[in-house]
Amino acid sequence: MNAKFREILIKRIEEEREAAKHISQDELAEEICNIGFKCLMCGKCCRREFGDNRVAVVPDEIRRIQKGSDLTWKAIVEPLNIEANSLQDECYLQGESGMIDEDGNIHTFGWMLQRKNNGDCVFIPEEKKDSKCSIYELRPLLCSTYPFYMEELELRASECEGIGGEITKQDSKEIAGMLLKRYLGELQDTILTYKNYDGFIPAKIGNIIAKSNLKQGYLNYVVHNSEGTCKVTKNI
Ligand code: SF4
Repeated sequence: MNAKFREILIKRIEEEREAAKHISQDELAEEICNIGFKCLMCGKCCRREFGDNRVAVVPDEIRRIQKGSDLTWKAIVEPLNIEANSLQDECYLQGESGMIDEDGNIHTFGWMLQRKNNGDCVFIPEEKKDSKCSIYELRPLLCSTYPFYMEELELRASECEGIGGEITKQDSKEIAGMLLKRYLGELQDTILTYKNYDGFIPAKIGNIIAKSNLKQGYLNYVVHNSEGTCKVTKNI
């Protein structure tokens, strides 16, 4: 990413953040109320087999989970990576190929909650009938506002069987408040991430190294995030 393009990108997101500050919580709550939502406690949004269950989190949220639990940073998050069926998936390294440097490091932006080998969120029980989140009180805003999210100043909703369900005005207002907090937090995090980003040079040789690392059971990542750059080794 060249410096000029990065500047344009940052400016655009800063404008979106400023505009987002003027979104009315009451109006947003009304929209949510009109769409309707009731959580069916099915846990499908936490499990990989029902779709993309990646949960992007910002450093402040990771620290909040750490504070309320005895979990390490590494036990909570992994680099935000592409959505593939598994890391062993043939397509995985191809999907990341433009993001690998000459040392075989895969460059990514930001963090997501750890997932188990089967792709489920690390905080959902193995037993399929049990969908109780083990960090429910500490869960990230993406989880507590699901299936809603904000994009380009508009309310959007992901696919979810709870959509259309009965919701009180009070609950809609609560979700709207969290949604705005999440939206502003994510925009701010993206701005800082781009400001910190120094770039890297992709190299084809890196793909060969990453493939060999994968065969040996690990992958090296460089995570560009709002607090700088972090090197992480993920055991596969
Ligand atoms: S943190 Fe909890 S609510 Fe969020 S995806 Fe994981 S199990 Fe589900």
